[in-house]
Amino acid sequence: MRPVLFLLTVAVAQPLVAQVADSSPFRPLPLPAPSSVRTGAGRPGVGYWQQRVDYRIAATLDPATGTLRGQETIRYHNRSPDPLPYLWLQLEQNICAPESVTNLLDQPPLVFLGSVFDFSCKGTAGGVELTSVTRLGRPLAHTIYGTIMRIDLPRPLPPGGVTELALSWSFAVPPYGAGRMGHDGDLYELGQWYPRMAVYDDVSGWNHEPYIGAGEFYLEYGAFDVAITVPARFVVAATGVLQNPLTVLTARQRARLARARTSDTAVAIIGAGEAGNPGQTRPTEAGSLTWRFHADSVRDFAFAAAPNFRWDASGWKGILVHTFYRPEATLWTEANRMVREAVRYYSQQWYHYPYAHISSIEGPIEGMEYPMMTFDPTGPAQIDLQWVLAHELGHQWMPMVVGSNERLYPWMDEGFNTFIDLANAANYFVGTAYGDSIEVHPLHLYHDHAIPGTEQPLISRPVESTDLFWTGYQKPALMMQLLRHEVLGRDRFDPAFREYLRTWAFKHPTPADFFRLLRDQSGQDLDWFWRSWIYSTARLDQAVDSVVSRGDSVTEIHLSSRREMVMPATLSVEVEAAEGAHNSTRVPLPVDMWNLGPRFVYRVRGRERVRAVVIDPDENLPDVDRSNNRWPR
Ligand SMILES: [Zn+2]
Repeated sequence: MRPVLFLLTVAVAQPLVAQVADSSPFRPLPLPAPSSVRTGAGRPGVGYWQQRVDYRIAATLDPATGTLRGQETIRYHNRSPDPLPYLWLQLEQNICAPESVTNLLDQPPLVFLGSVFDFSCKGTAGGVELTSVTRLGRPLAHTIYGTIMRIDLPRPLPPGGVTELALSWSFAVPPYGAGRMGHDGDLYELGQWYPRMAVYDDVSGWNHEPYIGAGEFYLEYGAFDVAITVPARFVVAATGVLQNPLTVLTARQRARLARARTSDTAVAIIGAGEAGNPGQTRPTEAGSLTWRFHADSVRDFAFAAAPNFRWDASGWKGILVHTFYRPEATLWTEANRMVREAVRYYSQQWYHYPYAHISSIEGPIEGMEYPMMTFDPTGPAQIDLQWVLAHELGHQWMPMVVGSNERLYPWMDEGFNTFIDLANAANYFVGTAYGDSIEVHPLHLYHDHAIPGTEQPLISRPVESTDLFWTGYQKPALMMQLLRHEVLGRDRFDPAFREYLRTWAFKHPTPADFFRLLRDQSGQDLDWFWRSWIYSTARLDQAVDSVVSRGDSVTEIHLSSRREMVMPATLSVEVEAAEGAHNSTRVPLPVDMWNLGPRFVYRVRGRERVRAVVIDPDENLPDVDRSNNRWPR
C-alpha cells in the first residue's frame, strides 16, 4: 500500500508546486519533534516516563506430561499521563496455537549462511489455556487475538494508578516452540512462557505488534518473584538470584559456588561424574522442590530445568558466570571461559554488566537471550560455540539493559550486538586466522547481500524482512564499524556509544533518540549517514576522475561521488621525489568534501609530479565499483 500512496502524492504535488526540493544528502532527517519527554539532545527529558510492571509467578513443570502451569500476579503501575481503559498483554505461547499467524502461514525457516531462523512450531499446534483472569477476585472481561489479549478494566486506570491482575494458565510445552522454548527429553528451556504486559509508551501508545517469530520482543522493566516447582531430581537455572539455596542445593554445591565467585577459572558445581546422579547432586531425590528467584530491573524472565546438567561456575568482579550443559556436550568445557571473557570484554569496553549472574544453557534452542540467561546450541565447533555464546550474552546490553523495540527495530539490538561481538571474537581468537579476519566479515558479505532491487532498508520491520541476517545483523554491524573507524574515529565514537548505553539503560530509546544522542555527544552531524544506511539502500561509488597539473606548483585531483551514498574517504597520493624515488602520503578527507555536490577537487601543493592516486586504498568502504578508484586507471 505504501508505494502506491507515495506515487499519488508525487503525481498530485508536481503540477501545483514549482519548487526546488532539497535533495542534498546533508538535508536534515525528518525526525519526530523533540519534547519534554525526549529531548533534542537524544536524552530522556524532564517529562520522560515509562510504565513499571512487577510479576509474582508460581509455576509447576510436570515433565511426565510435558505441561507447565502457573499462577501469576501482575502489578501494573501507570506512570503515563493517560488514563487507561484497557490493558494489552502478550500471550506468546499462542505462537503455536492452531489458528496462530505462524501456524497458518507455515513458512520454511530462513537460512542465511550458517544461521537458521526457524520461527515455526515444527508441527505442534497448541496454545495457552487461561483458566482465570481476575482483579480483586472478580473476573475481568478479556479478548484474545492470537498472541495478544486485551483486558477491559471496570473503570480506567488513572495516571499514577496501580492495579493488580491475577491470571491462572497452563500449556503443553512444545518440543520446539518457534526457537524460543522447547524441550529435548527432560531438558526444558522456557522463554516467552507466561502472559506479560505489552509496552505502553509515548511514541505509539500500546505496542501490541503480534508475535509471529521474527521480531523478538519489546517489554517493560520491573521486578520478578518467581517460584518454580520441579521434580526433586531436576536442577533449575533462571533469571534472578536464587533465594533458597539452603533448600535446593547441597552443602557441597553451596561451598563450591562460594569458591567459584572469586575464581578466574571454572569450578565444577556439578562435575562430569556427578551429572545425572541425584544421590550426589540433589538434597533429596523424592517428591518435588520449589526453586525461588528474585530479579530487579529486568524486562523478562526465563528458566531451564534438567536432571542431568553439568554445571560450571566462575566469577568476575563479583558476577557469577554459570554454564549448564549435558555431559555429551563436550565442547562446553570451554564455554565458561568464553562467557566470562565476553562479560569482561563488553563490561570494560562499553557498560558494566549490571546483574549478579549470567547463566548460559546448552540445549535444543539455537541461540536465544533473556535477562541473565542465554539458551545456546551444543555447537559444531569451537568458533561457532564462542560466537553464539558471546552473541546471546551481548544481548544483555541490547536489548536487556537498553530496552529498545525489537518488534520494529532489530538493527538496534541484533545489529548493535553483532557489532560488539565482532570485536570480542577478534579479541578472544587474537593471533589466529579466524580472529584476525572476523571483523571484516560484514564488509565481505556486502556484495552478496546488498543486491540492488531486492535489498531492503534497515528500517524495515523484521516480519517484512526477506534477508534478516543482512538487515537485522550484518549490515547494521558494518554500519557501526564504519561509523567507528571511518567516520568518527574511536576517540569520538566510543564515548558517544557508551553514553547512549548509560543514558538509556533500563529505558526505551527510539531511533531518533539514538541519532540525536550520537550527534550531541560526538559533535558531528550524522543525518546523512543514517539516511544512507538506515532509511535507504543507497550505494557508494567514489572515484578518482582525473589528475591535472596547474602550473608548476599545484596538482588538482578530481574526485567524484557517483552514487547516492556519501562517505568520507582516505586518499593515497604518491608523488615523485628526487632521484626517481617516490613518497606516498595518506590524506583523510572528511565527508564535507561533498557539501557543494558530487565533485570535489583536492589540491596538492608542491612541484613534485603526482604519479598515482587511490581513493579508499585499504578497501574499507563498500564501494560498488573499484575500477574507478585508482589513477592512472
Ligand atoms: Zn541475537
